[in-house]
Amino acid sequence: MRDEVKTTCPYCGVGCGLIISPTRDGWAAGGDPDHPANLGRICSKGAALIDTVMAEQAHDFRLTEPEVDGAKVGWDTAIDETARRLRDTIAQHGRKSVAFYVSGQLLTEDYYVANKLIKGFIGSPHIDTNSRLCMASTVVGHKRAFGADVVPGCYEDLEIADLVILTGSNLAWCHPVLNQRLRAAREKHGTKIVVIDPRKTASCDIADLHLPIKPGSDVALFNGLLAWLDQTGNTDLRYIARHVTGYEHAVAEARADCPDIETTAKKCGLDTHEVADELGSGLGKLETFFNWFATFERTVTVFSQGVNQSSSGSDKVNSILNCHLATGRVGKPGSGPFSVTGQPNAMGGREVGGLANQLAAHMDPNNPLDVDRVRRFWRSDCLEPGEGYKAVDMFRAIETGEIRAVWIMGTNPAVSLPDTNRVRLALSRCPLVIVSDVVSDTDTLRHAHIKLPAAGWAEKSGTVTNSERRISRQRPFRKPPGLAKPDWWIMSEVAKAMGYVRAFKYRDPSDIFAEHAALSEFENDGLRAFDIGMWRKAKKSSYDAMTPFQWPASRHDQPDGGAKRLYGNGIFTTSNGRARMLAVQHTTPLAQASTDFPLIANSGRYRDQWHTMTRTGTAARLSAHRPEPLLEVHPADASLYGLKHDGIARITSQHGTALMRVLVTDAQSPGQVFMPMHWNDVFSANGGIGRLLPPNVDPLSGQPESKHVPVALTPF
Ligand code: SF4
Repeated sequence: MRDEVKTTCPYCGVGCGLIISPTRDGWAAGGDPDHPANLGRICSKGAALIDTVMAEQAHDFRLTEPEVDGAKVGWDTAIDETARRLRDTIAQHGRKSVAFYVSGQLLTEDYYVANKLIKGFIGSPHIDTNSRLCMASTVVGHKRAFGADVVPGCYEDLEIADLVILTGSNLAWCHPVLNQRLRAAREKHGTKIVVIDPRKTASCDIADLHLPIKPGSDVALFNGLLAWLDQTGNTDLRYIARHVTGYEHAVAEARADCPDIETTAKKCGLDTHEVADELGSGLGKLETFFNWFATFERTVTVFSQGVNQSSSGSDKVNSILNCHLATGRVGKPGSGPFSVTGQPNAMGGREVGGLANQLAAHMDPNNPLDVDRVRRFWRSDCLEPGEGYKAVDMFRAIETGEIRAVWIMGTNPAVSLPDTNRVRLALSRCPLVIVSDVVSDTDTLRHAHIKLPAAGWAEKSGTVTNSERRISRQRPFRKPPGLAKPDWWIMSEVAKAMGYVRAFKYRDPSDIFAEHAALSEFENDGLRAFDIGMWRKAKKSSYDAMTPFQWPASRHDQPDGGAKRLYGNGIFTTSNGRARMLAVQHTTPLAQASTDFPLIANSGRYRDQWHTMTRTGTAARLSAHRPEPLLEVHPADASLYGLKHDGIARITSQHGTALMRVLVTDAQSPGQVFMPMHWNDVFSANGGIGRLLPPNVDPLSGQPESKHVPVALTPF
């Protein structure tokens, strides 16, 4: 009998620990009771993981052999040819003509090697990740307020808080186990829950208050709250005086933007006179929310893609952080702003610099001292200061021919990026498209000149970091099929074939993790915000046996379990140790409804599907929840545009069209529709919504505005 394996779920940012147990026919997956993220809990997607592993085997979904120009080849040929074509591109068009587009599905060790290869040895700054679509605005918000991209709290805070605010987060569907923990805490001690969301989502099932704000009006709401807290004497002036800069300026801007409850309600599309009857307070809903925020010391604000995926996402994040800083509620038990990420390793990628505007170990690509430090650590001679292209701009540069070679790993931008018709055009024009993937057919793989078979979740060894900064091991329990190999191995072999032999001599992922840990404390005496230096000399056996821990975890700092919370002492990562409140102003989303496109479409996830369905789409029990994409429409709009429940609608935006079955529901507000993000052309020829989305981005974070798309509807 084989042994049980402790590993981590590959889906959402909760990062649940799993135990994989051998059975007579294969394996079974269950929640790991010892993993602090889930304490044995699991959701429908995690429970069906083995279904997807078995389906991949049974239906030949896997990419099992390398291919070059359509011909199956061995690894030697694939590696040599990849290295030769990359070298030729660099020789003819320069180092910056090469780009990598990677994924939050990669493990931290894969991400580390990708970042080191492209920035440190190929010498191009152009690496970005699909995390750009997920939480890039939060990275900007954290850095502006705290001085570093740090989530101050932990999951336990949701359980001990008196008030939990979910804003732009359908926690019940997108982070189900965290929602289970919140629901259990509410049953135990009556946690108040507020949902701020234009839609009535499944998360409203346990909410005391739902504020269906107008799409894009989050800054107005939190500016209104900040102005009201200041006017009513509900800020913590002592904390502000000691630990915060920018309070007066931020409050002045908030007052100018939303001086009173009436103005705030108007900007947010809320009815000030709608009393929160069921609460018996006699107050309006907005005033009730403001009062609760002032009253409950233990308050957590959870925010997610509804905040991030916006042309003003960074400002939205800072408007939330402002309210927590003004009340001294950051990094304290049961208190703090809490960004929950969409992917299992969006945080790990951030830690090793997987975004175009990051370096490694939370260092800054625009800071020459940081760049010099990393250059010396890597012994690289071509690492330059400066940022690379963020996702949308990267594919524009491919379209114009500035980027001549792109290596895409573990992601499907031909479906997931906005304006996918243009992304596909760019890929079709690119002289060299290399794609490493697990499955044999994706919309992106159809454009590849070189296909490299990657090991999948069940076969890979490494680490991931979840939304509470917890690093966990992912462990393999089966061999990769055919010739599939781990991503770190593929990249290291290509790097060596390109001539960078010394720098990529990794024997296994533990070597890479040790190097990553050593870089995190290199020349900083363990004082950088992100630090896992305690692992720098870890033996392979300790790496194999690693139990989940939260960073920072250095020689000087909680060597066993890491830091549960950060900034609770009011000392931040800025140069003067104080947090910064930012003066932000409500702006409307870039694309507005018009006569031609009179409705606003919001996009998001289903409970049982994952990204572009390349994995979850293979499990019958997951598809049973919502077998096809449904366009959710308010009854008044259905009547206005001649749509019938269960009929098919043609959705048209300025960028493309899609077909979807109609679900008439009053969970939608009039004038707004909702469409799921998952379907691709492999699973549904006309249901992919990427082609509808405008390529509008937040100017600071580069994150696309995927939740505010003007559309027109007609019956099909
Ligand atoms: Fe996996 Fe997220 Fe479900 Fe946990 S909550 S089992 S990490 S999908």
